[in-house]
Amino acid sequence: MACVNEDMMTLEERSLAPAAAPAARADAPTVAPKDAGATSETTRGKGLYYVHTLGCQMNAHDSERISGVLAEKGYVLATEDQVKSKDLDLIVLNTCAVRENATERMYGTLGQWANLKRHNPRLQIAVGGCMAQKDRDRIAKRAPWVDAVFGTKNIASLPGLLDEARNQHTSQVEISEDLSYFPSQLPVTRASRTSAWVSISMGCNNTCTFCIVPSVRGRERDRRPGDILSEIQRTVSAGAKEVTLLGQNVNSFGYSTGDRMAFSRLLRACGRIEGLERVRFTSPHPAAFSDDVIEAMAETPNVMHQLHMPLQSGSDRVLRAMRRSYRTKRFMEILGKVRAAMPDAQVTTDIIVGFPGETEEDFQETMDVVRRARFSSAYIFEYSPRPGTPAASMEQVDPKVVSDRFNRLHALQEQITAEQMRTFEATTVEVMVTGEGRKDSATHRITGRERGGVLVHVGIPEGEATPKPGQFITCTVTKAASHFLLSDPGERAVDGGVYEVREHSTVSLTPTMPTMSAAAHA
Ligand code: SF4
Repeated sequence: MACVNEDMMTLEERSLAPAAAPAARADAPTVAPKDAGATSETTRGKGLYYVHTLGCQMNAHDSERISGVLAEKGYVLATEDQVKSKDLDLIVLNTCAVRENATERMYGTLGQWANLKRHNPRLQIAVGGCMAQKDRDRIAKRAPWVDAVFGTKNIASLPGLLDEARNQHTSQVEISEDLSYFPSQLPVTRASRTSAWVSISMGCNNTCTFCIVPSVRGRERDRRPGDILSEIQRTVSAGAKEVTLLGQNVNSFGYSTGDRMAFSRLLRACGRIEGLERVRFTSPHPAAFSDDVIEAMAETPNVMHQLHMPLQSGSDRVLRAMRRSYRTKRFMEILGKVRAAMPDAQVTTDIIVGFPGETEEDFQETMDVVRRARFSSAYIFEYSPRPGTPAASMEQVDPKVVSDRFNRLHALQEQITAEQMRTFEATTVEVMVTGEGRKDSATHRITGRERGGVLVHVGIPEGEATPKPGQFITCTVTKAASHFLLSDPGERAVDGGVYEVREHSTVSLTPTMPTMSAAAHA
């Protein structure tokens, strides 16, 4: 339940498929997976590997660095078929400590992989990420078949640990507390050539009582703006059209050096990068959401009007117990300013129900804020204690009560989401193609996101070429489903809708986006 939410990605976007061509790199070589798609023994390189990623975009991006480091040392990314048939020499589990029952899930997965190892003695298993950082050498004790355990700040050491484990026949563990280099300096194998993640900071200086992140990722460390911009520039030169800036609290970027305008300046600097068509970021913290960021979002044409801002609770009493430093009045003020400056803004959030001590009255306050805020969607979590966090030792709410509250809040948000989605019907949106959805080949559609980040499946007219990832389609929305939009040729033709494919975004496109209802500006 940290501030970055994994569910914001589709399955397609989360899969760590090899980039079609080398992507940009920050300060070190970009590594295209060697012979990804290899099928014979001669193309296994140092070994076929697969990275299994749990958690948020930060973890998914770390997996791109893990993949880059392995590819540089001669490992070869396994194809989907090789993964399915377990024809692998190395599996890396990049873990998340934020998820419910993270420990049990990790050891459950490792237990299943122990069986694989019995059938394939050459298989090596490595565990990285937040759970590795948290459980350290306990992993090697409970799962001695694991070859390497590496911390969030030890990605570069993975190939050496694997060699050592092979030579010594014993598990190798390397966990550092201090950040001696940013993973962004490592080689990278990007999952997507057109949409790239770029990390701007690591760690978090807050102390939310439900969150494990500060203890596993450490205090916030910001990258130098010049390094970030140069990574973005290289990524764009290699074909990226969209960049998502990543950090636990992107908008406190620069605070450590007393520069409170650093994040808005970074957004404006992104606006000057030629060829960079779309900029997104996740996640901002409400406490640090200042007017200059809203102005930069509204005034920089390639910064998308999309905001994922975690509310967590609508009760000030609960926010205090969570040690969240803003109150609901402030949250709603920010929302009002965002929507006044960008009426088309799509705002999503995270909410925890059943936090220790939450009363029905507190919960009703959350329901009230959700009614007024009219989020496009919300990631709602039932609170469950994370060992090692202060809230885990507070008095817990009865799980049945938590579940009942979840259902009521979920039903309310679903109704609001459906209403918000319907406002897109018959409007024109600009979709950047990200790839094929799971059902797209059967339905002759292509998938992408409109400027606010909403998923759109676009039907391709008879006889027209299939648009490629990174191309832009201006099209009329013919139907809103519960969590995505459809633009189908049949209905477009009947209603005089548009369908136009371009290489570049029309940043000057006048949006015929829905105007939010008055309630949205409450
Ligand atoms: S401690 Fe940091 S990462 Fe965790 S929820 Fe709070 S702000 Fe987000």
